[in-house]
Amino acid sequence: MKIESYIRDIQDFPKKEILFKDITPLLNDPIATKNTVSVLVESLKGQKIDKVVGAESRGFFFGILLAQELNAGFVPVRKPKKLPYDTISATYELEYGTDSLEMHTDAIKKGDRVLIHDDVLATGGTAKAVCELVAKLGGVIVQCNFLMELTFLNGREKIKEHPIFAAITY
Ligand code: IMP
Repeated sequence: MKIESYIRDIQDFPKKEILFKDITPLLNDPIATKNTVSVLVESLKGQKIDKVVGAESRGFFFGILLAQELNAGFVPVRKPKKLPYDTISATYELEYGTDSLEMHTDAIKKGDRVLIHDDVLATGGTAKAVCELVAKLGGVIVQCNFLMELTFLNGREKIKEHPIFAAITY
């Protein structure tokens, strides 16, 4: 099974000149979804994971599946003011301006072994902010993994101190 064949290209979404990688055809197919989880889990080579951290919102889909497969807890990282309990926050750069991400203060215990997951690694700003949140709470980042890496945007440079895995690279 080629995971690539379940990713749909949408031209000019969400704005002009952007070629959006749509994972909904993959989510729509249970066998392809299971196989994708296996590919991501195998990249960990049996390393123990306590928490899987998924970035809002497309990082939630496979993040939860990965957590279940790894017998780990799942931690949502969300846009500001979405989480109900006490939060920490990290700011990252956008093309114009900045944005922030938040995580609950009790989501990760010091020394927890953490897998960070998102659907796409693009410029790396999101992943870097998630790494900062995990580090603030004393989590140990075992790997940052993605369904897709857009290599031409060089996002891995921003998180190069951590192991990185992508199931597909473009
Ligand atoms: P970055 O912060 O520039 O690395 O962008 C990564 C974030 O943007 C991820 O949370 C992705 O969900 C989202 N993203 C960027 N490009 C795409 C795309 O082509 N398809 C789906 N999500 C994307």
